[in-house]
Amino acid sequence: MVARMMSAEPIFPVNGGIQALAVLNSIVTEMGEIESCRDLFEASMSQIMTWKEDKDDLLLYSSDVGQSRSDIIFANIEIMKFLQQTVNLVSIYLTDKEWDFIMCSVVSFVQSIEESVERLPTSVEVQIFTCTTCRLLTTVASCLQTDVEKAIFPPNLLTEWNEFFSEGIFGALLPLFVKTAENHTESITGQIYLLLKSLSLSVCQCPKQQVLDHKLAAYLKADDTSGLPNSLQTLLNHVCPLLSHDVREVQLGAFHLLYSIIPELPQYEKESKDSTEEEVSRCPPQQLMTILVDGSKLEVMSSSLNVDQYLKISPFTDDYTLALSYLLTWRLLLYFFKSSTAEIRQEYAIYFRQTGLVHQFLSNIYRLMPDNPTQDTKAMFDRNFSLNVASAATEKDIPYLSCYVYRHALQTVPAMVRTWWKEQDRKTINYVDRFTSKHVSQILCTEEIQPVSKTDIQLENITIKTRPITREVIATYSLEEVTIEMVIALPENYPLGTITVVSEKRVGVSAATWDKWLLQLNVFLQYQNGSIIDGLRIWKRNIDKRFEGVEDCMICFSVIHGTNYQLPRLTCKTCKKKFHSACLYKWFQTSHNSTCPLCRNLF
Ligand SMILES: [Zn+2]
Ligand SMILES: [Zn+2]
Repeated sequence: MVARMMSAEPIFPVNGGIQALAVLNSIVTEMGEIESCRDLFEASMSQIMTWKEDKDDLLLYSSDVGQSRSDIIFANIEIMKFLQQTVNLVSIYLTDKEWDFIMCSVVSFVQSIEESVERLPTSVEVQIFTCTTCRLLTTVASCLQTDVEKAIFPPNLLTEWNEFFSEGIFGALLPLFVKTAENHTESITGQIYLLLKSLSLSVCQCPKQQVLDHKLAAYLKADDTSGLPNSLQTLLNHVCPLLSHDVREVQLGAFHLLYSIIPELPQYEKESKDSTEEEVSRCPPQQLMTILVDGSKLEVMSSSLNVDQYLKISPFTDDYTLALSYLLTWRLLLYFFKSSTAEIRQEYAIYFRQTGLVHQFLSNIYRLMPDNPTQDTKAMFDRNFSLNVASAATEKDIPYLSCYVYRHALQTVPAMVRTWWKEQDRKTINYVDRFTSKHVSQILCTEEIQPVSKTDIQLENITIKTRPITREVIATYSLEEVTIEMVIALPENYPLGTITVVSEKRVGVSAATWDKWLLQLNVFLQYQNGSIIDGLRIWKRNIDKRFEGVEDCMICFSVIHGTNYQLPRLTCKTCKKKFHSACLYKWFQTSHNSTCPLCRNLF
């Protein structure tokens, strides 16, 4: 075969080299033992590199594919397929020179797509060329992203890829993905579907830095109040709507892009001003919230179902698109909350409660999760579950994704779920309790207890031990002559039930202070949206502030407020005592006037 590739001159006729390559491509996956055909790959590779030298019009590098002859396009497609197989099967044997050839080819083929973009919507040849390039790129990029094998690639390969090639490739492909998806929103033909799928696959390989440095056309909205820089606003305005795209692969591609940059968003959140409102709420980026509006449609669909009944959603339906976009958006929001500070997370939680979105979310998710997921519990609630763009949609997509999102909700916003749960009717309370303890609590407890046993989480002055069997975390706080040991026990239906805190040992603190500290830890653990460690961290900050000399609020006797973590910032003009704004607001409400709770002078 290789002999035929090498001897054939010219290369195009039926017996020519490209034909031989096409035959090779079609049988290569059947060849079995890769070791034995290394020579074949090597020889074919060197032949292709020779063609490149000898026939400078053969490879469609940075050229308009729409203007090229069909047989040349066909030749390029076969060459790309061969390169893809090579990377797939024998990447570890490739030399520096071969890698260089492959990477240069990918970036130059992508440039050709850019040059042919005007013909892309109409020319089938350009579409096939684009699909094949995307598949080659996806294979190369995912091969280079496998950390384990880093060591076996030639030195500098990854650096070159990340610092040079990636930029050129994704700088062009990301805008193409967005534009193509935006232009094809309905009655999508088979060819356009394949194109969208290939583009989605390749943007899933886009590194975070390239997403942040995107070259999308500016898209800003006059009413944006997010405080995000223009480039992030543009990204969200373009990509968020694609979460509800008709093509599943586009939805997943958009999700991947957004997921990679979510942790970058909270740094632009402004701290809220002190106000005498009882509750300060905050709305997450509007682009994501818009998609949740469709959550009401899911509510309508499932309104006749009880909490223990399951709404089955099949792939390739409008309901599937709707449920998928809703769940993906919630997954992004939960990740966004997790990336925010504890203080700001509480403000988001208030917003979701006040707007009824928590209730909508949990009612919906309880109808989307299967009623009895015992068979495959581990996979369903797996923390790293993800829907694959490459594999086809199945009946399992929505139930699995729902379980995964529910698990993350319990982990990220436990207090939000707990508050909702307590307000439901008897039947719902019981069902949610049974479901959660049976399928999720154990997984969550194991995770809560595992990380604290590792030493990577350091809280100054606090040492932590765990007793996994009894679901207990033992935290010992010691500073100078003070030592206090607290046992935090997680309930069987964690995080729904009450976390108990008892103390077995105290040295150097009065019984009154000791009681107060335990009570405060209880409050922090009960009302916070985070892990046990997050709760301990806030509690410790409370005590540290005391030692720094910050005065308690004279209403709740805590330095840090139990639910919004603010310091007592309002001072009475007469008696000079300090109060939390939330505590004072509550006092004004219940006492029906605006006087200081201590000295009774007008505040
Ligand atoms: Zn207070
Ligand atoms: Zn006063």
